[in-house]
Amino acid sequence: MIITEKKDRAKLLETVKDYKSFFLLGCSECATLCGTGGEPELKEMKELLEANGKTVTGTFVAKTGCQVLGTKVELKGHKEALEATDCIIVMSCGAGTQSAVEIFPQIAVYPANNSAFLGNMTRLQMFDERCSLCGDCILDQTGGICPVTACPKGILNGPCGGTNDGNCEISPDIKCAWVRIYERMGKLGKTVEFKEMVLEPKRWSASIKPRRVNAREEKK
Ligand code: SF4
Ligand code: SF4
Repeated sequence: MIITEKKDRAKLLETVKDYKSFFLLGCSECATLCGTGGEPELKEMKELLEANGKTVTGTFVAKTGCQVLGTKVELKGHKEALEATDCIIVMSCGAGTQSAVEIFPQIAVYPANNSAFLGNMTRLQMFDERCSLCGDCILDQTGGICPVTACPKGILNGPCGGTNDGNCEISPDIKCAWVRIYERMGKLGKTVEFKEMVLEPKRWSASIKPRRVNAREEKK
């Protein structure tokens, strides 16, 4: 999931100070789980805007905000409110914000959140980064633990000389990614494979932006 965090509200109010009427758009998926773009957060934003003399023409939590066509269809039911809107505040990730830009080229669109990273919810409201979207996954070779993301240096053949009692030199609170990989592969009976493993240089060209996947083409 995409982990989002709320932008500073005072700064957001300053950014949109010239607009009068607002429509709030959330997302029922990642942003709802992050507590940044579900019904409670939209209600909170509505109250904040109204307390600052603004009009809120409508609010809506899209099923999947980054799905442009689906969101466009869902918002047809809010045509009247959107026609009376001069600014949409999107309370999901950056992709959701850009869906709104694409659907409403004539209306100003502003993000209420910062998109932080791709991660997992490990406990309620606790999120850990797990994947850097490198485009050339090596989890099949590293016991399912990602050194590109879990190691602050992204070292492919670790550990580095800074590992200390199994922890990363960056912080004693972070276990060395390569110690984790070693332990995990050991549990799978693959210690020998670990010791012999030399990862090839990665295909970093797969992470050159902007990327596009055409799944329909790939199915042919
Ligand atoms: S190797 Fe690349 S794609 Fe696989 S989890 Fe790590 S960053 Fe993500
Ligand atoms: S100690 Fe381990 S996790 Fe930290 S930088 Fe070195 S190899 Fe990476």
